[in-house]
Amino acid sequence: MINGKTIVYGIIGNPVGHSFSPAMHNAAFNTIGLNCVYVPFCVQPADIYKAIEGMKALGIGGANVTVPYKETVIPFLDRLTGDAVACGAVNTITNKNGFLTGHNTDGGGFTRDLVESLGYDPAQGPALVIGAGGSARAVISALAQNGCPAIAVVNRTMERAERLAGALHDATGIALRVFPWDSENRELVAFSREASLLVNCTPAGMLNSGVDFPLPPGVPGKGQLAYDLVYNPPRTPFIKRAENNGATVAGGLGMLLYQGALSFETWTGHPAPVEVMRRELLKQAELTFKVGNREV
Ligand code: NAP
Repeated sequence: MINGKTIVYGIIGNPVGHSFSPAMHNAAFNTIGLNCVYVPFCVQPADIYKAIEGMKALGIGGANVTVPYKETVIPFLDRLTGDAVACGAVNTITNKNGFLTGHNTDGGGFTRDLVESLGYDPAQGPALVIGAGGSARAVISALAQNGCPAIAVVNRTMERAERLAGALHDATGIALRVFPWDSENRELVAFSREASLLVNCTPAGMLNSGVDFPLPPGVPGKGQLAYDLVYNPPRTPFIKRAENNGATVAGGLGMLLYQGALSFETWTGHPAPVEVMRRELLKQAELTFKVGNREV
């Protein structure tokens, strides 16, 4: 029941109408009996500063931040945690009496799914990350923190991958290899065959969009784990390709769950009711996929 003491949380992005986060967090608040509510905030680019300042004015308890504002919000916050600095991106904001702190739970969510749900140890071998945007930074930082022995990135725009490698090196000391988007590049071919883990950190394949990954035939294949951050459709072109080649596969719903669980814990100080949140996510996913693959 919403009343005069309800604390408001939300997700700031554009678009946000497709987000599963409101349903997931409201289910969690209800289960624990917290007087909180989570709502979508679709913000226009020109208004992002006003939206962040408005969190203070309105006493918003905290927020998630999604595409395209994960980097844009940084100058408007009072402090960043180490994870947010390492990623150069914020997906969670806490508001303590008007003092805004930016956190990043994407990398932690990815690791929790990889290690706890899938039983995969990043230390077991090299990883190839496809994409060089905000989520790639979070994934790479998390892999490095968890002992991954060698990480390489391949991106459609080579300069962006090089910038990311430079920034990550400066922030964390991680030494990344960078490959061009060319399936005939010999070093890329060799690295991708040796990698234990291949992670798609691009939206390619979302909503069944066509994509031509720069990977040799048979990769990802047997003995490799293929992880796609995209979760709509559940079986993305990357997942289908990997499955057909005999790889172990995982979609992005687990990461979505655990980044949300970490945000919830950061805001409330309560252990997240993960199973309730998982059930809600699966319900939302089922509803969305049933009505046809609309935007997610
Ligand atoms: P971003 O910062 O906008 O970066 C997008 C990256 O994908 C860039 O490297 C871009 O390459 C590349 N890219 C875009 N379209 C492409 C295409 N058609 N073919 C090849 N490469 C393409 O986005 P992000 O925040 O990293 O998010 C990436 C994806 O991960 C999104 O689909 C997002 O929904 C998903 N995600 C999922 C979770 C989860 O919890 N499961 C969490 C975070 C993100 P260029 O540099 O060449 O443009």
